[in-house]
Amino acid sequence: QLSRRLERVGELVPEGAVLADIGSDHAYLPANLILNNKITSAIAGEVVEGPFQSAKHLVAELNLSKAIAVRKGDGLEVIKTSDNVTAISICGMGGALIRDILNRGHLTRKLSGREVLLLQANIGEPTLRQWLVNHNYIIDNEDIISENEKIYEIIVATKAEEKIELTAAELLFGPVLLKEKNRVFKEKWQHELKQYENILSQLEKSTKDVSSRINEMKEKIELVNEVLK
Ligand code: SAM
Repeated sequence: QLSRRLERVGELVPEGAVLADIGSDHAYLPANLILNNKITSAIAGEVVEGPFQSAKHLVAELNLSKAIAVRKGDGLEVIKTSDNVTAISICGMGGALIRDILNRGHLTRKLSGREVLLLQANIGEPTLRQWLVNHNYIIDNEDIISENEKIYEIIVATKAEEKIELTAAELLFGPVLLKEKNRVFKEKWQHELKQYENILSQLEKSTKDVSSRINEMKEKIELVNEVLK
């Protein structure tokens, strides 16, 4: 039984994909997708010994060793050209960590540019969107869901012919999420707005010169208020 978060990522994986799931932990996502005949085969990559062993055990227990290769290694280095990977999922980590994994993959040419990227960062999504823009990726789809009082954003991206810039608001809120403004989106940003207002009132009480941070916070508050209107 997958978490709602991973289930939603799974729904966004293209039918028949050869999936590399990076930071796979128990290999839950690839195992579920193989069992449901959604994907052709998968690589479960893990850099830490414990989660790598958990992934190996689950795949062996479910008799899925033919369909899922569990490999130990850092980020995209577990991918071989001969795997012909068509989709890469990186979920449950911080946005900066996901960005660094993609960047190393880009520098070492592990990213061919033909893969669909499915990215679910726990925090720091704007950082990730900025990297995607800088490397000519286009955000084709996004979703935002809540599970156990937590809110998660999922980004689906593919490589474009040329750079497609995003506005400051699109980088912060997500270009697709901003268009849809669904219930969970509003819930997230109402909560963020309260946090920003708290930070602002703290800053305004400060005896130090924090004028630039005050202005920055005011701009953010204005941006969020505008979007929630
Ligand atoms: N992807 C699963 C999910 O979303 O439920 C597991 C998320 S878990 C919080 C993050 C996993 O990523 C950990 O098992 C960790 O060992 C792994 N990880 C972190 N950095 C990594 C890297 N550079 N390469 C491969 N795996 C990594």
